[in-house]
Amino acid sequence: MSKQLEMNLMLEQDNNEIWRKLEGLSEQVEDKARDAFGKVEKIAEKNQWKVIQAFKRHQVSDYHFSGSTGYGYNDRGREVLDEVYAEAMGAEAALVRPHFASGTHTISCALFGVLRPGDELLYISGKPYDTLHKVIGKPGDGMGSLRDWGVSYGEVPLLPSGEMDWDAIRSAVNERTKVIGIQRSRGYDWRRSFSIADIAEAVKRVKEMKSDVIVFVDNCYGEFTELQEPTGVGVDLMAGSLIKNPGGGLAETGGYIAGKREYIEAAAYRLTAPGIGGEVGATMGTLRSIYQGLFLAPHLVGQALKGSILAAGLADKLGFQTSPRWDEPRTDLIQALRFAGPDHLIAFVQGIQAAAAVDAHVVPEPWDMPGYEHPVIMAAGTFIQGGSLELSADAPIRDPYIAYMQGGLTYAHAKYGILTALHRMAVRGLMDQL
Ligand SMILES: *Cc1c(COP(=O)(O)O)cnc(C)c1O
Repeated sequence: MSKQLEMNLMLEQDNNEIWRKLEGLSEQVEDKARDAFGKVEKIAEKNQWKVIQAFKRHQVSDYHFSGSTGYGYNDRGREVLDEVYAEAMGAEAALVRPHFASGTHTISCALFGVLRPGDELLYISGKPYDTLHKVIGKPGDGMGSLRDWGVSYGEVPLLPSGEMDWDAIRSAVNERTKVIGIQRSRGYDWRRSFSIADIAEAVKRVKEMKSDVIVFVDNCYGEFTELQEPTGVGVDLMAGSLIKNPGGGLAETGGYIAGKREYIEAAAYRLTAPGIGGEVGATMGTLRSIYQGLFLAPHLVGQALKGSILAAGLADKLGFQTSPRWDEPRTDLIQALRFAGPDHLIAFVQGIQAAAAVDAHVVPEPWDMPGYEHPVIMAAGTFIQGGSLELSADAPIRDPYIAYMQGGLTYAHAKYGILTALHRMAVRGLMDQL
């Protein structure tokens, strides 16, 4: 252990006064946020009931959990899982698979599934999530990106207000535009996330411009934060990760795609092989945790959202900017907190890690993560590697210095994680307010 680290640890243990102040502040925030918490709990209840009804309608039984081997033909558990997901997402069909390696892989399958050479993908919610830049590609990058296959790309930046720029979108849509992309969540950006109402309005406007366009939504971090999902309000195709919201902390890996049946089939041909699609794919021992995770997801999303509200409320009291603010409506898990410099980011993220049940003794450092353009520091003391419905925090080390935190399988973990993070900042002399 380095001298510096040892000193920090001693300081942190000794400084009970700061800890007590932070606990006191958190109680004030909890009082103030009672209504906001109540709204989150109502949504969690309704979504819980919606998910149970989907299970019931498709007669989920114990034998659906057993999984298959080899080709995985006639895997009833896998087929019913697709149906349950489709129903919970308000979609015609779904493809839920442990074979999706990540959210990026899932989104990539959905896009490659429906786009053909000569088509254009147009993102209307500004720059997409970092890991998608290489999926979209640059001319001649040789990685088999969409661009390499002759799919062109356009992007309409958001207005300074954070709204979509409809004049610019109208002039960007052209005869090649096949897919309109919308990212629901802010991702690693200081912008507003798009609510279900925003997305419904965007679908309406886009279809007025071009009726046969496919509206795709990157739904990562959005699931079960509102009463409906994008596919319930006219979106044609959407995708998300099972190690985020809908996996309920239990799914060990995987992703889902939901939407119109023909597009789901196209994505399945991309995932396995043309002509084979979703008929194969052994699920082995993964199904029970994916089903049970979906069952738990509405409640856990509620716990995580309450944690985000508390974080924003505390940061607000301490004079840091937050997005969203504690009392703003939410449509995703991500809480962005803006700090003064890189040291603040590092202390905050290390504090989140230090409050984890798993790997609390590990001290994260910034590193060059594959797919990201800046060094990133991540706190991921999680049961599932990189699982971000679990309490986690990420910060690209770049100006402006913004930490993005999300998750918490229990509200209490989120709360004590945030307190530990703020405490660490304070004892490193990065917070004069306390
Ligand atoms: C997490 C995320 C992704 C990518 O998922 P990975 O599992 O990290 O590959 C894409 N878009 C958004 C908005 C995300 O939050």
